[in-house]
Amino acid sequence: MKATMQELARKTAVPGPRSKTLLDEWKKWEAQVTGFQAPVVLDHGNGVILTDVDGNEYYDWTSGVLVMNIGHSHPDHVAALQKQAARLLNCYDIPTAERINAAKAMVEITPANLDQAFFMTTGAEAVEACIRVARRATGNFEIISFQGGFHGRTYASMSVGGLSGVKKHYGPLMAGVINVPYPNPYRPLFGLEGDAQIDAHFELMENQIRAQSTGSLAAVLIEPYQGAGGFIFPPAGFLTRLEKWAREKGLIMIVDEVQASFGRTGKWFCSEWEGLTPHLMAVGKGIGCGIPTSAMMAESGVMACMHKGEMSSTCGGNPISSASCLAIIDIMKREKLVENSAKVGAVLKKRLEGIQENSKYLGDVRGRGLIIGLEIVKDRKTKEPSADLTKKIILKAAEKGLLMGPVGMFGNVIRVAPPLVVTEDQAHAMADIFAEALAEVEK
Ligand code: PMP
Repeated sequence: MKATMQELARKTAVPGPRSKTLLDEWKKWEAQVTGFQAPVVLDHGNGVILTDVDGNEYYDWTSGVLVMNIGHSHPDHVAALQKQAARLLNCYDIPTAERINAAKAMVEITPANLDQAFFMTTGAEAVEACIRVARRATGNFEIISFQGGFHGRTYASMSVGGLSGVKKHYGPLMAGVINVPYPNPYRPLFGLEGDAQIDAHFELMENQIRAQSTGSLAAVLIEPYQGAGGFIFPPAGFLTRLEKWAREKGLIMIVDEVQASFGRTGKWFCSEWEGLTPHLMAVGKGIGCGIPTSAMMAESGVMACMHKGEMSSTCGGNPISSASCLAIIDIMKREKLVENSAKVGAVLKKRLEGIQENSKYLGDVRGRGLIIGLEIVKDRKTKEPSADLTKKIILKAAEKGLLMGPVGMFGNVIRVAPPLVVTEDQAHAMADIFAEALAEVEK
């Protein structure tokens, strides 16, 4: 299906004159240390459409890094924020009805064994909290985590991470981390697939434990799919087996759902795809939709190790992020956004797979729901990654009205993550723009 693209306003070249002036200003005043992006300055957003300061409109494939699941400036979210802002903004540990209700709502949507919430403000903070509780609960300190993983940029969270741009140059890192390979079906170790791949990864993990562990294993920490690592989904069955293995060994199983949660994969939590029941879960991004909010979801039996006063976060559970969380859950249920993510995600993935058939550079299309990774390679046979081609495609797409960003160990995976309110027509229009941009780069 060829969708019309007239609905997007295209006023100037990209970047337009106002964007250019502001980008020059930005370079003067803010340290330029964040990743590659299309050269635009945004003005406002509405649903799946972003408008830059020159009046150009774009379909959004970033969702502000998987944050804006309910779409930009959802009127009911905005109304809830305005109402709460006029009443009470922060009160530290003294609870509010909003905070209590948000904790209840979170317990109701997470796997049944997770019966307590604790609120914070960032994803990294939630991961740190999980590590803290796992160490306290077991009295041990070693954490098994994964190469290519991303859990944040605070010291513990980057120490357990496994991406080169994150942990290199900042040592010495937190001790006690055993980093093991994450199974990648597109680039499988030893060319193994399915169960054979899973077996090999368990063997590698157990060898690393034999080599490095002093007998103080506390936890296994894993992303249910690797996000910043390049949207890598492990082979089916890997996560279930890992959780079983961890529980049998008496370890705490921690799932980092900071980006995989809140409907992104077509379930409320990605863990549901394999029926996982981790002891601890870190949640972020979509729980706040732009209002800094995160949570550690926990089994109360595990939390029993913590005494009063052992955890806090100045703005954690503040009334505005709690009201925000409640409004988001309500909107997502009312508008059936989890179901929409599964439905429109399948349509979009099929379109992208169709585009891949005639492409030289689109090596892999993978994902679930509305999180899809497009791996760009120089040659589909050798699978040599290309960050340069990826940047060219991103710039070309921006000129045509589609915003997206790169991720992955080699910077060669395009993030396809529109807000979950996207319609099928919009998904087709997005795929059309992507196909044109790719074809022009391939010419
Ligand atoms: N965990 C995962 C899986 C993430 O993707 C991220 C952010 N990209 C984080 C943790 C860190 O979240 P934050 O930037 O809010 O600290």
